[in-house]
Amino acid sequence: MKISVAKDAGYCFGVRDAVNMAYDATEKYGNVYMLGDIVHNERVVRDLEKAGAKVVETLDDIPDDSPVLFRAHGTLNKLWDESTDKNVQVIDATCPLVYEIHREVKKLSLDGRQIIIIGDHGHDEVVAIANQVETTIIVASPEEASKLKKMKKAGVVSQSTQTIENVQEIMNILMTKVFDLHFVNTICFPTKRNQAQIKTLAENSDIMIIIGSFTSANSKRLTQLALEKNKNSFQVTCADDVKKIWFKGVNQVGISAGASTPDKLINEVKEKIKMINKEKVN
Ligand code: SF4
Repeated sequence: MKISVAKDAGYCFGVRDAVNMAYDATEKYGNVYMLGDIVHNERVVRDLEKAGAKVVETLDDIPDDSPVLFRAHGTLNKLWDESTDKNVQVIDATCPLVYEIHREVKKLSLDGRQIIIIGDHGHDEVVAIANQVETTIIVASPEEASKLKKMKKAGVVSQSTQTIENVQEIMNILMTKVFDLHFVNTICFPTKRNQAQIKTLAENSDIMIIIGSFTSANSKRLTQLALEKNKNSFQVTCADDVKKIWFKGVNQVGISAGASTPDKLINEVKEKIKMINKEKVN
């Protein structure tokens, strides 16, 4: 059985930097506070907690002068203001590519356009993008796009981890609804690269395994993408979820992972599959 792991499976540079910043802060200050989970992966959050990174719900839960890490996918403007008032030390882990989306929506808005964000309702990144301008319309699916009224002038950006296919379908509908339409493709390059590798690997494998938490919209989307290319695709959160029965008659295994999945989990899953293979042979 041959096992191939997608070249860029797992952490994107934005998430890797944020996690490293959190560890560096715990070393420097003894502890660091995080507003909500910095990464949608239970294992990463648990390991960070052990190192001294505490998850809190509001800035009020943080003692004055303490370090607080603002996550990779962006933070509401009011929390930036409150952090100044409260005198907490902000460690900004916002991904530069997320800041780029913020700049783009502001530019589109200044151009007098109705802002449309293609993204998941309630997702931290989408909420923070929407927070950059007065009014936004969030569209998660082609069905939602079809319900929009016709409009004169709109500017569209997407959440960084959307699939190209979903964005294309929505854009096709928006073209029939908006007279003056300006689209900025803000799917980030690590996401595009990961999606392209998954499609090829899923097509060329007998089974495709996507590693990622079910709380991660990104991982679920990648699994969907793999399923479209290969019905024999499964999402697992860790090695324990991998079932021996899946590998009956399998020669080629493809593995990839969401942007919030650490290398450690990818290696554990790979080792489990190697073990299943050994048992099959013996
Ligand atoms: S998914 Fe893209 S935008 Fe989001 S943190 Fe990673 S690199 Fe940055």
